[in-house]
Amino acid sequence: MYEESISIYNRNNLINIGIRDIEKYHGGLCPGILIGFKATELAIERLWNSEVPQRDEFLIIISEKVCECVIDSFEFITRARSRGNLIIKPTNKRGIDWSFIFVRRSTDRAIEIRLKDAISPRKRLPKSKRDEFSRMIKNSDAHKLFYVKEKDEID
Ligand SMILES: [Zn+2]
Repeated sequence: MYEESISIYNRNNLINIGIRDIEKYHGGLCPGILIGFKATELAIERLWNSEVPQRDEFLIIISEKVCECVIDSFEFITRARSRGNLIIKPTNKRGIDWSFIFVRRSTDRAIEIRLKDAISPRKRLPKSKRDEFSRMIKNSDAHKLFYVKEKDEID
């Protein structure tokens, strides 16, 4: 079966990361890790085009309302949290925040990737709904899941 994967350099080592790897790290499959994976995939496509990114080139800026599952995905792929490349800001937003800013540090280009409103859960879903939602995310093309916005300034 075809498994979607992300290629990334950890210094000189090229690694391929699939959803299954993140699932193992996280201790299960859930919408959050899938959304984190798909958002990172889209960020790489937009900020690196056909280049393979370096882990240390990522800067990720999120609010405190982004769920831990998404953060686990970002961490597993980029090591942003453990290497100090994850900035978490306070927010007045209500409910779960599904928007993430990705910065490519070597070019200073930044984009905001936000899960479309129509599919964003505002609170934790019950188990049955969660599995269904996970399947939908997993089978969807990242372009259909998110809005992407160029950020000229990072506030
Ligand atoms: Zn989770």
